[in-house]
Amino acid sequence: MPPNSVRTLVVGAGITGLATAASLPDDDYLVLEADREVGGYCKTVRREGFVWDYSGHFFHFKHPEVEAWLRERMGKQRVRTLTRHSFVAYGGQWLDFPFQKNIHQLPQPEFIDCLHDLYFAGGDAKASNFKEMLLGRFGRAICEKFLFPYNEKLYACDLATLDRDAMGRFFPYADVADVIRNMKAPDNGGYNATFTYPEGGAAEYVKALASAVRPEALSLGEPLVSVDLARKRARTSRREVSFERLVSSVPFPQLLKIAGLSHDASVFSWNKVLVFNLGFDRKGPRDVHWVYYPDRDRSFYRVGFYDNMFDADRMSLYVELGFPRGAPIDVDAMRERVLQDLEAEGLVKGHRLVAHHSVVMDPAYVHLTRASMAEHRRLAAVLRQHGVHSIGRYGGWTYCSIEDDIIEARALTLSLG
Ligand SMILES: Cc1cc2nc3c(=O)[nH]c(=O)nc-3n(C[C@H](O)[C@H](O)[C@H](O)COP(=O)(O)OP(=O)(O)OC[C@H]3O[C@@H](n4cnc5c(N)ncnc54)[C@H](O)[C@@H]3O)c2cc1C
Repeated sequence: MPPNSVRTLVVGAGITGLATAASLPDDDYLVLEADREVGGYCKTVRREGFVWDYSGHFFHFKHPEVEAWLRERMGKQRVRTLTRHSFVAYGGQWLDFPFQKNIHQLPQPEFIDCLHDLYFAGGDAKASNFKEMLLGRFGRAICEKFLFPYNEKLYACDLATLDRDAMGRFFPYADVADVIRNMKAPDNGGYNATFTYPEGGAAEYVKALASAVRPEALSLGEPLVSVDLARKRARTSRREVSFERLVSSVPFPQLLKIAGLSHDASVFSWNKVLVFNLGFDRKGPRDVHWVYYPDRDRSFYRVGFYDNMFDADRMSLYVELGFPRGAPIDVDAMRERVLQDLEAEGLVKGHRLVAHHSVVMDPAYVHLTRASMAEHRRLAAVLRQHGVHSIGRYGGWTYCSIEDDIIEARALTLSLG
């Protein structure tokens, strides 16, 4: 029988929870996972020979030791390191990404508009939100052609409600000098200039993490239901567990409810992303990993090509659509709409759809605002006083990568001892 009293209770067996359990210094832990399988958002599905993730999950390691640790546990799995080929679909052509550094690829009148407005943009010193930051740094033309429509489709909210630094290091900044330099010496780098991808999909990294977690300490299909902070007791769907410290990767607003902490729920807002994985009978475009779609008439904001990661001979796409969190979604109707839009964009040209899969990621991108960050800081500190640590992309209510989740989990277990 699993223990009813543990030193460390880990909640969630996605990347963050598994990385936490894998780096604990002792075996006195239990991992609770609501789902029937591990992986959280980093799951891989297989249909008709296609290998798909919950939207393309690519790995950009900044810490070689993290990558090496994972690879040591992946046996003979083939992992490719790829140089990103990404584009922006604009006005019937594909420009190199990021748009703001490649305006010289636009037709001349539009290029002049963008360059003029960039030069006279005025800076973002007084910007108090994401929209003002974009306008101050890049000027109106770049914003209206790409940055506003693309980010509005992705975040599904008014960009003026987001903090000016809502995307942190994931935003591809560029000043006038960068843009001019890029015309002669392209350097479209950024945080994901190169990335890795395993042949078996993103879940191969999850398996590597899970291999360092004791199977008997992992309880699937057992959600955490409530926590008594004062008594350090957790109630699950099956039992009560007392703990010394609890590490949660559950979305923060959900944890607050579970812990019964009074708070202002209205400050936490997010989008959800509907992902379609679509497999076709033959190949599509080559030499492209993903394309951004700012056009408001297109249902999706991004389309990625799994088949170009390992040179497969059938087009295999992930297609991402952003929605406000409460919006109803008719998945079948949206799939039809997506297929029409893919045809209109010239990606589907008489291809036959062989297999498909969809998933709604909810939450997907949290809306980072001053109020949400302040409330997260305040409430996370209260939880910490009771030995409860809320970490990971959703526990930390932030924007970060899988590697960031692993690093944060390791740092926490080190500090807790
Ligand atoms: C569209 C999209 C694309 C992305 N692409 C990339 C990418 O290419 N590269 C990259 O590095 N990152 C990417 N990310 C980010 C990445 O998905 C996350 O950083 C990472 O998966 C978060 O892992 P996690 O374990 O913190 O959270 P999750 O994966 O959400 O795991 C949390 C786990 O907690 C469980 N849980 C929830 N409630 C309970 C409960 N009450 N009791 C028990 N268990 C519970 C859930 O079932 C889940 O398994 C992307 C994110 C999105 C939305």
